[in-house]
Amino acid sequence: MNKIKNSFILFITALVLCLTGCLPNDSDSDISVVSNVGDKNSNSSDIKNTGLLNIYYVNVGQADSIIIQFPDKSSMLIDAGETINNAVINKIDELGITKLDTVVATHPHNDHISEMPSVLKKYEIGNFYLPKVSHTSNVFETMIDIVSEKSINVKEAKAGETITVPEGFKCDIIAPCGNNYSSLNDWSAVIRLVYGNTSFLFTGDAEELSEREILEKGYNVSADILKLGHHGSSTSTCNDFLDAVNPKYAIVSAGKDNSYGHPHKETISKLNEKNIQTFITYDCGTVTATSDGNNIYIKTESGEATESVGKNEISNNTLNDTNNTSDINKNNKAEEKTNYIGNVKSKKLHRENCISLPEEKNRIVFDTKEKAYEQGYSNCLNCNP
Ligand SMILES: [Zn+2]
Ligand SMILES: [Zn+2]
Repeated sequence: MNKIKNSFILFITALVLCLTGCLPNDSDSDISVVSNVGDKNSNSSDIKNTGLLNIYYVNVGQADSIIIQFPDKSSMLIDAGETINNAVINKIDELGITKLDTVVATHPHNDHISEMPSVLKKYEIGNFYLPKVSHTSNVFETMIDIVSEKSINVKEAKAGETITVPEGFKCDIIAPCGNNYSSLNDWSAVIRLVYGNTSFLFTGDAEELSEREILEKGYNVSADILKLGHHGSSTSTCNDFLDAVNPKYAIVSAGKDNSYGHPHKETISKLNEKNIQTFITYDCGTVTATSDGNNIYIKTESGEATESVGKNEISNNTLNDTNNTSDINKNNKAEEKTNYIGNVKSKKLHRENCISLPEEKNRIVFDTKEKAYEQGYSNCLNCNP
């Protein structure tokens, strides 16, 4: 118990030192990011768009971990999953990252910080953001011990903070808005990243209480891609929040057959009703979203293959493989689809823009769903036509 107390005192000390700017490596004094708070017209087309932003929603089972790599190769990590085969570290290494400029532990639940101690130990860390709440788990203690040993620069994750990102990007923390929650989930740091005309919302495990606070505070939450709160649980993604975010794509980070039943079917039906295409990591593997500031391209590890429906060329060798790539062109929003694609082998029925379309030779086109059902087809779980 003493150890826990000591750790937490160290944590608070580090936090206070950091907030008062006394740590020698506090390099955050020249923040050039403009806060987007309350700005309803978020699309900053005046900023210079150079290069590609890559966001990896890492397949870490029933857990969360997101790696963001900016065009200048600086990087951000949001959560570090459950320790499954070192999935987070393996992905960081695969991307050639040796320094994480920003690390965020959205909240201290194990499914968000289990690999964090190893990550903090292994890489050079710029700023480490975490909400001002402690936890009594071994993982949390170990994490705080490493922060203290390595004198990592800790910053408080709370609404109103901005995260330093390269020029041309904006990154705001919009939750937690308060400082007293009964559920650790509502302490989750919620982060909105904007690049040109594209935007992304990362919600940790924030639940309806936090979502409502964010809306009450008037923060701009609109985003093209929403990482659903709390692994797609029905306790998150309330209707008002989903309406305000108004995403085109949703990502659920969840493990196959998890004991919580995540994502909950109520959440998935909400997304389907609004024609929001959803990617679940247990189906798709790691999901990669790439933005050039105007268009977003999504690639999954496991998609059977889709054509890119992109109108604009992205010139970068990371996108050479256009298989498995789908594109949102902001100026050419997906229309209501009149055709459905069946997979003659698996008897699954897909929307035309599903990421999991079968190979050309295994396709059959239906003009109504009913005709497909008559022939024994059932809905693809991913696009749920
Ligand atoms: Zn979680
Ligand atoms: Zn949680």
